[in-house]
Amino acid sequence: MRLLDRWRVLCRQNPPIILWLCSVMSVVTDRINVLTYHAIADGPGPTNIPADTFRGQMLVLRECGYTAISLAEFAAWHAGEVNLAPRSVVITFDDGFASFAKHAFPELAANNWTATVFLPVAYLGTEESWLGADPVPRRLLTWDQVAELASAGIDFGSHSRTHRDLRRLGTDELRLELAGSRDEIEHRLKKTPLSFAPPYGRTNRHVREAIGELYRMSVGTRLQRAGRTCNLLDVPRIEMHYFRDLRRWRAYLEGRAEWFFLARRSLRGIRALAASAVGA
Ligand SMILES: [Zn+2]
Repeated sequence: MRLLDRWRVLCRQNPPIILWLCSVMSVVTDRINVLTYHAIADGPGPTNIPADTFRGQMLVLRECGYTAISLAEFAAWHAGEVNLAPRSVVITFDDGFASFAKHAFPELAANNWTATVFLPVAYLGTEESWLGADPVPRRLLTWDQVAELASAGIDFGSHSRTHRDLRRLGTDELRLELAGSRDEIEHRLKKTPLSFAPPYGRTNRHVREAIGELYRMSVGTRLQRAGRTCNLLDVPRIEMHYFRDLRRWRAYLEGRAEWFFLARRSLRGIRALAASAVGA
């Protein structure tokens, strides 16, 4: 029997074994978990993670031997310029909520870990009011807080200016969202931001190309670990509200929760297909 046929038979007969092997390989080899958080708060919905849950997730990461690295280190690894410790993780926060300073930063600092916070720059110092905002609006960091956190080792990327669906903008508006936010962060922090996170994770090829003209990398919402061959303008991330259950989080990090991971990915794929079918 040819090798390929044997492989097909093995996959058909032993899907759990194959999945387990894949998960263990991805834990111990060249794939990085890039984590997504929004607010560290008690509110409802997937964009709020309570502070004690966040602390627990960080504790499990540490106990499993993980170390947080920056997106710049990730990009250097992606380019083949450096090697990383076997269990490296990138921690990101979308929307620049003020709860980052109160609840997330102290926990990160205690571990000597960094993170990247993506800022919708026009909203800094105010509260969210974009499409899909929480019913009880959450406050964003002020520029003073951003500067203080930057001097303490936190990295800041752009989340556009006004948190709109970039696919729906004309060329000039898109440029303003991308370049305007980059220039504002550069002006405030005296450092050019390396990375971008599209609002709602919504992009298309045109938007990604425009991002690529101004930023080294852009993060997305595909639920996968990020490998060295991933598109640096659509880096997959792990949405952390799926791992509020700390036992599940530990199991995932140890390669024992691949069924859950696969099920979530499949469900998201089905939802995306259904949405595109009705033109949402
Ligand atoms: Zn956002």
